[in-house]
Amino acid sequence: MARLGILVDVTKCSGCHNCFLACRDEYFGNDYSPYSAPQPLDGQFWMQVKEVERGSYPRPKLDYIPIPCMHCETAPCMNVAADNAVYRREDGIVLIDPVKAKGQRDIPNTCPYRVIFWNDELEIPQKCSMCAHRLDEGDKEPRCVEACPTGALLFGDLDDPNSEIAKRSAVLGPAAFHPEYETSPLVRYFGLPKRFVAGEVVRKDVPGECAQGALVTLEGNGITRETRSDSYGDFEFDGLEKNRAYRVRVEHVGYAARVFEIVTHTDVDLGEVVLEPLS
Ligand code: SF4
Ligand code: SF4
Repeated sequence: MARLGILVDVTKCSGCHNCFLACRDEYFGNDYSPYSAPQPLDGQFWMQVKEVERGSYPRPKLDYIPIPCMHCETAPCMNVAADNAVYRREDGIVLIDPVKAKGQRDIPNTCPYRVIFWNDELEIPQKCSMCAHRLDEGDKEPRCVEACPTGALLFGDLDDPNSEIAKRSAVLGPAAFHPEYETSPLVRYFGLPKRFVAGEVVRKDVPGECAQGALVTLEGNGITRETRSDSYGDFEFDGLEKNRAYRVRVEHVGYAARVFEIVTHTDVDLGEVVLEPLS
């Protein structure tokens, strides 16, 4: 039996919200019982796109994280539901039975990802069903995946070594969104935003001109990375762990090296790194 999942490549997400709109189009007002009852007009986001701002002017970054139900293999929502109202299919999809779940007001509060929504009119909890009704009819993928224009969402059988999702996962090594929840989700992420350090190299004796090609080395937390400043003098290291100490060294032929000790409590902008010429 397949174990179905979604690989979310955050680095490819443009924030277009097509996935959100496709999900709304699929479920608003449409009854797919026993898979799901109609989604109401307001207040429900079975696929949401979260914006994450990092850094600050003049080096801000904006990332987008698509968030559906994670279809957890250790799902807290299943534990509290009475009468097996939340259940897992053999293919891993976690569903809420709209009939059995009626009146079970506690179910939305059990999800650490906050992706279960309460329907006041029907008095039921509701969430993403990974489009199980479509898959059972022979469709290849959920509507959100089908609608994504950038390839940020990849759906398939995680246990089939020949599937695209298994092959991409083997290369990218995706992780859970919020691994601290310990729910073993079948929706996994690559490229979740971490810390970055950046700066701009200039030479004191060449005012108004950027220093292209300076060697910048980052060391710490068990890694060493190198880059060169670009034609604007800019450099950047992204994907750094939070709250770790690193050393950044900036070198350019004919100039004294600069060294910075940083800690990634936040993103770090070193600003203008001015190099003094060697005498
Ligand atoms: S993300 Fe929330 S609703 Fe979905 S399976 Fe996990 S605990 Fe349940
Ligand atoms: S459709 Fe794809 S690119 Fe657009 S917001 Fe959703 S995941 Fe991102």
